[in-house]
Amino acid sequence: MSNVAEDVKVQLLKVGARMAAAGLVMGTWGNLSARLPDKNLFVITPSGISYDVLVKTDLVVVDITGRVIEGERKPSTELMLHAAIYSACAQAGAIVHSHSIYASALAVAGKTLPPILEEQVQFVGGTVSVARYARAGTVDLAAAVVDALGQSKAVLLANHGLVGLGSTLDEAYQVCLVVEKTAQVYILAELIGKAAIIQPGDVAAIRKSYQTGYGQQV
Ligand SMILES: [Zn+2]
Repeated sequence: MSNVAEDVKVQLLKVGARMAAAGLVMGTWGNLSARLPDKNLFVITPSGISYDVLVKTDLVVVDITGRVIEGERKPSTELMLHAAIYSACAQAGAIVHSHSIYASALAVAGKTLPPILEEQVQFVGGTVSVARYARAGTVDLAAAVVDALGQSKAVLLANHGLVGLGSTLDEAYQVCLVVEKTAQVYILAELIGKAAIIQPGDVAAIRKSYQTGYGQQV
């Protein structure tokens, strides 16, 4: 594999460790992947190895049909979920699948996360839908997630967790963090009153201003 692929593996280990430290996953749950310069290939975490002991040689290179190209380990049991998203979304460069508490609570309640915070609208695009229930690790779950994704960067998995995607691993990770925080705020707001939803015109304006004006312009 190329030096780029080796760099992607290092990045994957770093983001995996951050995800575990931030409490987005526990033990060996959750998984993440990143596309390689050959768009038909991606690197994914292995099945059943905890993030704190994961090393580069544990990572597996697969193609978007799910075939193992490089690596000795068995890939994540959600391999087909990642493969289906890469096949359906040409712009997806990385995918993070977490089992964080508040996103999972919404997913169990079957509640869509409406646009309620500006950073949610900026990073995620707005509403986060719940994909119909399908058992973990199945091709049916992969299809359900692709159906629910649309133009969003995140989807809640019924009775399961969350998938976030981005053009980079950092972005996919940030999407999961922002959805988790927003889910927490939404649940708390609904406990003390009624969450006020940002209206479509404002959602569009926030998105536009973020895409064209945020950060250090070069
Ligand atoms: Zn999972």
